[in-house]
Amino acid sequence: MKILHLTPELAPWSKAGGLGDAASALARQLAALGHEVRIVTPLYGSVPEREQMGIKLESSQVPVGGDPRRAACRVRSLAVAPNCEAWFIEHEDFYGAREIYPAREDTAERAAFYGRAGLQACLETGWIPDVVHCHDWTTGLMPVLLNTTLKDTPLGRCASILTIHNLQHQGLLSRRILGFLGLPEWLFQPAELECLGGVNFLKGGILHATRVVTVSPTYAQEILTPAYGYGLDDVVRRRQADLEGILNGVDSEEWDPRRDPHLVKSFSADDLSGKAFCKQAFLREMKLDPDLPIPLVGVISRLWEQKGLDLAARALPRFLRSGQLQFVLLGSGDGSLETEYRRLEKDFPGRCAVRIGYDHGLSHRIEAGADFFLMPSRFEPCGLNQLYSMAYGTLPIVRATGGLADTVKAWSPSARKGTGVVFQHADVAGIEWALEQALGLYGKPADFAAAQGQAMREEFSWSKSAQAHLLCYAKAIRQKQI
Ligand code: ADP
Repeated sequence: MKILHLTPELAPWSKAGGLGDAASALARQLAALGHEVRIVTPLYGSVPEREQMGIKLESSQVPVGGDPRRAACRVRSLAVAPNCEAWFIEHEDFYGAREIYPAREDTAERAAFYGRAGLQACLETGWIPDVVHCHDWTTGLMPVLLNTTLKDTPLGRCASILTIHNLQHQGLLSRRILGFLGLPEWLFQPAELECLGGVNFLKGGILHATRVVTVSPTYAQEILTPAYGYGLDDVVRRRQADLEGILNGVDSEEWDPRRDPHLVKSFSADDLSGKAFCKQAFLREMKLDPDLPIPLVGVISRLWEQKGLDLAARALPRFLRSGQLQFVLLGSGDGSLETEYRRLEKDFPGRCAVRIGYDHGLSHRIEAGADFFLMPSRFEPCGLNQLYSMAYGTLPIVRATGGLADTVKAWSPSARKGTGVVFQHADVAGIEWALEQALGLYGKPADFAAAQGQAMREEFSWSKSAQAHLLCYAKAIRQKQI
């Protein structure tokens, strides 16, 4: 199969969250299974070593409205793996700055341009995919283009997939985008792209993609309801027959405690002694009291309302004050939450450490050094950190939502089975209850070790995820042919 991915993030070149990891790993895995894969993504100013990339198209004139000088871009290419090439869209004005999602007056045009440029590159080079796989809102109008403006080009026969990595981010932007992309004006109606006076990119994708995917089976059910639908649940319901949830996986090249270069000692499910070294070294690194017989609870996260960390900040002081646990957080985002966590660090020296920012190596050392990993999300489409945590024998404490509900099994003391602690309600009492459960489990070393072993033996591979995607692609191709 020829598969084209369109994505605003592609790890390791660009990443704001799980999407960068997911798009990259899925594309590589599909290529490893023998398919021909191309990934189109913007060449942001932060991407290093651009001069070492090849040039696919020196100058491509993308058919978009407005100033013709703005329509020109260069397409650079890089072999990511055998059968897998990334096409970086180089456009100084749109992507020359370092940020992935800046707030700009021309956000709509900037968001849509690279996808359109990717489709243009296909037409210019004659590489016509069987499937165009679009990731999240910036790519939402590409399935619309395939069904309308590009219908009579060789791309008109391509099946399209839209993956919703997070329904909260929709791209509700100026209707100017219709003229920019050459989309017909009749699309501006409530049954199509119109939404609150603007064009909703994601709504367009949901309505026009041949099939719609989201990143876990539970989230696929949740987004059919008003509580999780962010105003689009009725639109999602219209596509219910073509909607499915496919879990992300773990990139075992990157996340494997048996060969992780960021750790002072390696460890495995059969021999966890290295994990104790990692914890000690990490506590010292963070200037936390070593040698206390209490668990270390970790968090690595964007500090957004979605993640429920405002609730955790209110639940934690009681446990820190009584000396029942130690806590470490790495993250950034909402300014008032950053301040709140900094205050927590100041109030509980030796027990609480907070690092505001993005730090790849530190995220590995937290996963290895912590005993528990807290994810009290209000919603979580898939979540990756609970998967990394399980691979590192760090038991996730999660709210039963989306991918967290699908991947973490609640520890049952009677059955002595489970891989973490699961709680139902996104509120302070829910988190307190879950922390109590975690402390109880930690207090029974044999049970805790049993849960660690089960967590580490879980398998969340990209190969499974890629196989499920291939089945979905095959269905989409069949549907397109009808
Ligand atoms: P989301 O995509 O909603 O942010 P996910 O759990 O799906 O959440 O993925 C987040 C990814 O970003 C994980 O790989 C996580 O380790 C990483 N990450 C998030 N914040 C930081 C940070 N401050 N430093 C390092 N890695 C981070």
